[in-house]
Amino acid sequence: GENSAPEFVIHPSYLTVFFLLFSVNLLDSRTVMGDLGWIAYPKNGWEEIGEVDENYAPIHTYQVCKVMEQNQNNWLLTSWISNEGASRIFIELKFTLRDCNSLPGGLGTCKETFNMYYFESDDEDGRNIKENQYIKIDTIAADESFTELDLGDRVMKLNTEVRDVGPLTKKGFYLAFQDVGACIALVSVRVYYKKCPSVIHNLAHFPDTITGGDSSQLLEVSGVCINHSVTEEAPKMHCSAEGEWLVPIGKCLCKAGYEEKNNTCQVCRPGFFKASPHSPSCSKCPPHSYTLDEASTSCLCEEDYFRKESDPPTMACTTPSPVSTVKKGKITKNSISLSWQEPDRPNGIILEYEIKYFEKDQETSYTIIKSKETTITADGLKPGSAYVFQIRARTAAGYGGFSQRFEFETSPLSVAASSDESQIPIIVVSVTVGVILLAVVISFLLSGSCCDHGCGWASSLRAVAYPSLTWRCGYSKAKQDPEEEKMHFHNGHIKLPGVRTYVDPHTYEDPNQAVHEFAKEIEASCITIERVIGAGEFGEVCSGRLKLQGKREFPVAIKTLKVGYTEKQRRDFLGEASIMGQFDHPNIIHLEGVITKSKPVMIVTEYMENGSLDTFLKKNDGQFTVIQLVGMLRGIVSGMKYLSDMGYVHRDLAARNILINSNLVCKVSDFGLSRVLEDDPEAAYTTRGGKIPIRWTAPEAIAFRKFTSASDVWSYGIVMWEVMSYGERPYWEMTNQDVIKAVEEGYRLPSPMDCPAALYQLMLDCWQKDRNSRPKFDEIVSMLDKLIRNPSNLKTLVNASSRASNLLVEHSPIGSSAYRSVGEWLEAIKMGRYTEIFMENGYSSMDAVAQVTLE
Ligand code: AMP
Repeated sequence: GENSAPEFVIHPSYLTVFFLLFSVNLLDSRTVMGDLGWIAYPKNGWEEIGEVDENYAPIHTYQVCKVMEQNQNNWLLTSWISNEGASRIFIELKFTLRDCNSLPGGLGTCKETFNMYYFESDDEDGRNIKENQYIKIDTIAADESFTELDLGDRVMKLNTEVRDVGPLTKKGFYLAFQDVGACIALVSVRVYYKKCPSVIHNLAHFPDTITGGDSSQLLEVSGVCINHSVTEEAPKMHCSAEGEWLVPIGKCLCKAGYEEKNNTCQVCRPGFFKASPHSPSCSKCPPHSYTLDEASTSCLCEEDYFRKESDPPTMACTTPSPVSTVKKGKITKNSISLSWQEPDRPNGIILEYEIKYFEKDQETSYTIIKSKETTITADGLKPGSAYVFQIRARTAAGYGGFSQRFEFETSPLSVAASSDESQIPIIVVSVTVGVILLAVVISFLLSGSCCDHGCGWASSLRAVAYPSLTWRCGYSKAKQDPEEEKMHFHNGHIKLPGVRTYVDPHTYEDPNQAVHEFAKEIEASCITIERVIGAGEFGEVCSGRLKLQGKREFPVAIKTLKVGYTEKQRRDFLGEASIMGQFDHPNIIHLEGVITKSKPVMIVTEYMENGSLDTFLKKNDGQFTVIQLVGMLRGIVSGMKYLSDMGYVHRDLAARNILINSNLVCKVSDFGLSRVLEDDPEAAYTTRGGKIPIRWTAPEAIAFRKFTSASDVWSYGIVMWEVMSYGERPYWEMTNQDVIKAVEEGYRLPSPMDCPAALYQLMLDCWQKDRNSRPKFDEIVSMLDKLIRNPSNLKTLVNASSRASNLLVEHSPIGSSAYRSVGEWLEAIKMGRYTEIFMENGYSSMDAVAQVTLE
């Protein structure tokens, strides 16, 4: 009915947990091997029949059959039986009883029952008591009596009767059987008590529990949570007089990191986790997460994947999520303002947004604005035109996906040309002209001293050189919010979506256009030069500080173009910025911008405190752990992978062209076109007229100028060698000509001292003669990642005895032409004693030896 509350009926069977009864024998006459020690009186009453079974074990059967005689009172007393702490005991009797009707003439006195008694005592002293002190348990009658006919048929009709007694208060008791004139054979007596057996229920352990003394009593028993489990609610059960566990209450749960299996808590295997006791079982780590440990309560995110702190551990690790809601704001004939909401699940702090837009159906020519805010205004748009916008967020994990496309239209000309707005261009033009004039005058005044002195003057004239000018600091291109950066991309220069391709600045007719395409113009007043830190091909390299409007001042490196440069030198100098400006990667030196509108012309990059890697390693010989060195190599190869993905071939990869910052992060630097090789003091002229850093360059690049990412991989192998030997010079003092010859003949650099075998093998792989057999940069990245994850693989060092520190080692094919047999070769390298081992292991030909790997 509408008003009646639902009724819950608990079926009794839900309350009973176990029906498996458990009894403990206190006495079983059938298993007693010797004398039972029972006493019968009078002597002619109960008598023991000395029978044995087929194993000659005695069968303790007592019988009495005085059916023809009056007034029978025959007692049979057991020995003392300990109750072992039980307060309710059970007695099971097996017996046969003769049917009085089958006895001729005995009907008057014949009985068909007997009586059972007990008497409690703490010890055996209580034996000689009087009959009337026994307490009667019951009169026992037979369910089935037998006749003589039955005996003739040899059919034994065995009766079983069970009686219980309790509560008992003493340590033990006697039983007594009284016959008053029946014909009985008592075949066995079993005395036992019942207990609720020890059990695990709901992950709690309940001990063996002897039942209570009262037949209706329930004993409350507390359970103990099993190993690796915790109390959810105090576990309890009830032990009935029959030895059943009833009415379970409360439970335990497997703690975090463990799951329930077969009434135990099993540890979660590596790769699985359980976050809380309440989770039902160990779960596989969610996508992009892992754990290497047992009993994990959560999984770690893979590199570059993130999970918010507030996210549950069951959540997959992801890269940032796309922006989904974009709203238009103010729209004029030339501009569209947008705002959007931070993604719901940004996976970390959003560092900035990238807004891409283009005129509808003109996707090949688009603009990118970067902004730290969730609003932007795109200006310089055509009136009455539709524009398509897409936004993506960047966190430490990288860029998320672009949002869906949002289309907005600028106002048509007729509407926008209101009297107010038509004034604006005039005001803007006049203000701009004024500011430009002022800038030209001031920069003219200042640039004279700059040109004359490079940055050498800067340490003394620091900050005085550029007195506190109050005009706006920023990129001259940035018309919008100073937090925003804007870049334009034109047809063919960019592959979308995904990785950009590198654009050779040579493809621009006007090199100045290339610089301004890829590099931001910084106003000279924003730069403070502090000191000279190095010498570049085109002028001094200084350290200093950059203060852009609305941003904190930060340290930068400043490369200057020395005075009296030619137009070609200026173009080459700025060429590096045009290249660097196209890259955006944590292991590629980051270009802040250029100063071209005043003198000296400067390139401003992020500042790398520890300078160039080769010098830094030489200064700190032997100071780093292998993992730190591998970390440096990982950074370099990650930067190189990025460059090769962009289609950029470096051609001059060497430790001297890697910069390292105070966090030991390595970044690839020194970008240029043909000039790269010209400004490298290591570069030497080859017979074909090019200038090449011989020791770092792959043979095919030296021989026929075949520079590819595969030749960069060769150079990377040399950088690995430089790093692992703390800046040692490759091929020591060998001449360039000897290096070319040795490499051509198959010799390779030997392993640096204490170098893990896996790393040396990687170097040898990079130095494969066949450039297609060399690993690709992305493969090297994964190999180094694997080594970093399992540093134990770095423990095997190249065997010191096989390391020829000052000799080049022959690479495969191991001079196979030079030696006719393995023995001859081993003799030649003073290792003749190993010939037998080589033979035994199947390396019997030089071709087989050429296949030997370090493993
Ligand atoms: P480069 O002309 O690029 O080879 O630079 C010459 C020297 O200036 C390098 O070897 C470094 O010692 C130093 N240098 C260049 N760029 C930086 C930078 N971004 N941070 C620190 N030192 C630099």
